[in-house]
Amino acid sequence: MKLQKKIILTGSAGQIGQAFLEHLSNSNDNYYIYALDKNKNFSNKKNVENIEIDITKEDEVLNFFSKVNHIYGLINNAGIGVFSSFLSRSVKEFKEVLDVNLVGTFLMSREAIKIMIKSKSGKIINIGSIYGVNSSDYRIYGESGRNNSEVYSITKSGIIMFSKYLATHFAPYNIQVNTISPGGIEKNQSIDFKNEYIKKNPSGRMGQTKDLLPALDFLLSEENKYTNGENLVIDGGFTKW
Ligand code: NAD
Repeated sequence: MKLQKKIILTGSAGQIGQAFLEHLSNSNDNYYIYALDKNKNFSNKKNVENIEIDITKEDEVLNFFSKVNHIYGLINNAGIGVFSSFLSRSVKEFKEVLDVNLVGTFLMSREAIKIMIKSKSGKIINIGSIYGVNSSDYRIYGESGRNNSEVYSITKSGIIMFSKYLATHFAPYNIQVNTISPGGIEKNQSIDFKNEYIKKNPSGRMGQTKDLLPALDFLLSEENKYTNGENLVIDGGFTKW
């Protein structure tokens, strides 16, 4: 029987995480998924293990990894934003975003790499954002209350650089680390916001979670052994003019 490929997916109860979980758990690639989230997951598939964890808490992360002995891949997808205005930003809000997006990703990656080094193999995918590449264009947000914050952008550009750092330092151990940076994914945003976003997008629509799946498959595939430290921006061309 083919060996199960163990994947750790954080933020698995969220919008993108659920789509990733559904896709990977139905894949023919024989994945076994540790589905990690602060909130309860809903998957009852037999190749999914639901784990409630706060990835910002070092003791919880260490406890999880003490039960894991081999990993094919880690997808650092958990992330948060904050939508109040910059001038009202509190240190508490600022630190909360740093904690989940950077400290959580750092802790998960550090522990995963300790295991991956032993098997001399591993694939890490960090989820960035278009706002780690470009600053958010406040003109499209109007009164929508969805104007992305400085701290979100800071963390997402940090994620892109973190991937490059890990990619270069751990390539000798056959570990690949790449970023997927999605553009805005359609959800329950206001019609006004959607219209403004779409006007600015060469593809004329917002993203869907399924738009991210080909990049996920590519980065996880066994055949892909040479893409390292790359940032795949999946945004319909939003950031290209
Ligand atoms: P979401 O809010 O739907 O899901 C995020 C998940 O992360 C939630 O289930 C939440 O419980 C979990 N989480 C938050 N803090 C955690 C913690 N401390 N420990 C464990 N789990 C925690 O978000 P989403 O839209 O699915 O976004 C997923 C990723 O994609 C994020 O990193 C986000 O920044 C990025 N992203 C999203 C979009 C978008 O438009 N949705 C665009 C670009 C990038």
